Amino acid sequence: MSKLIFPAAPAPTLAIAGSDDRIPVQRVFCVGRNYEEHAKEMGQQVERDEPFYFTKSPEAVVADGSTIPYASATQNYHYEFELAVVIGAPAFRVSRDEALSKVYGYACALDMTRRDLQLMKRAKQLPWDIGKDIEFSAPVGVVVPAAQFGTPKAQRIEMRQNGVTKQDSTLGHLIWSVPEIISHLSTLYHLRPGDVILTGTPAGVGPCQPGDVLEGTIEGAGSLKVTIGQPI
Ligand code: MN
Repeated sequence: MSKLIFPAAPAPTLAIAGSDDRIPVQRVFCVGRNYEEHAKEMGQQVERDEPFYFTKSPEAVVADGSTIPYASATQNYHYEFELAVVIGAPAFRVSRDEALSKVYGYACALDMTRRDLQLMKRAKQLPWDIGKDIEFSAPVGVVVPAAQFGTPKAQRIEMRQNGVTKQDSTLGHLIWSVPEIISHLSTLYHLRPGDVILTGTPAGVGPCQPGDVLEGTIEGAGSLKVTIGQPI
């Protein structure tokens, strides 16, 4: 009998509103430039042909209430507050009409970003990974089941840094809607339960510092609070 030569890392899990059960996180997909005002503040044109994605390691996921270290190797660690969609059923080449039936629920999330490294790599047309796939960089809040949340429409999405509102928009401003994202992403991947999709950030992204408290809410999808700690 063979054995693992060291213990496998435990799968990160998400809490569920109103339940003691938890969701094991599979993959984390992130949509880029999905609010027009954010694309503008990044100095980019909105891509209207199709959405584009990057990924984070599941191990980047941390829970609501966490203190996350300021990332290494950056002088410009940014917050991006986003709606997270948690897939609850297998989905491959699903239509936009079918897409929402594959959703388990919704949550608040942060896509923490080494902005300096992202932009440096972008300028050289190199992969962004080190700007985005960062340890502790994907805080995800308690998941609200879809039956309770309803349908993503024009719910307010708002984030405060140390009590000051920095991002304030609605899900109605998503360039690619949740059904469009799921339908398109399901042409590229066999989506499965536990896959998480961060749907992009509204305008107002900015730097954070150790000691900052980031607190966001999405109407119907609860809230998420994270403290930035010292680098480790
Ligand atoms: Mn993002």
